[in-house]
Amino acid sequence: MARRAAQEWNRGMVGTSAVPRDVTPPGECATDGCGRPVGTEVTPTGWVVAQVIGSGPAREYCSGSCSSYGVALAEVRALRDKDGGDDR
Ligand SMILES: [Zn+2]
Repeated sequence: MARRAAQEWNRGMVGTSAVPRDVTPPGECATDGCGRPVGTEVTPTGWVVAQVIGSGPAREYCSGSCSSYGVALAEVRALRDKDGGDDR
């Protein structure tokens, strides 16, 4: 039984939460082709194309969250290539 303070904080709701949706950690997307270079195949409807200048070819991602992660990786690659290739 939940304590009274906990019940008040939670508007009287007690019990077990609903099962959360599956969320794939960044970089571990299991969608086939997510992150491949653009032009490998026809880009599926709704996918996001992302490119960072100085960081190789544009890539396509199955969702906005995957593309955000991809852009972050591309930004790091661009910095590394610009600064002479060390492993920062
Ligand atoms: Zn994805």
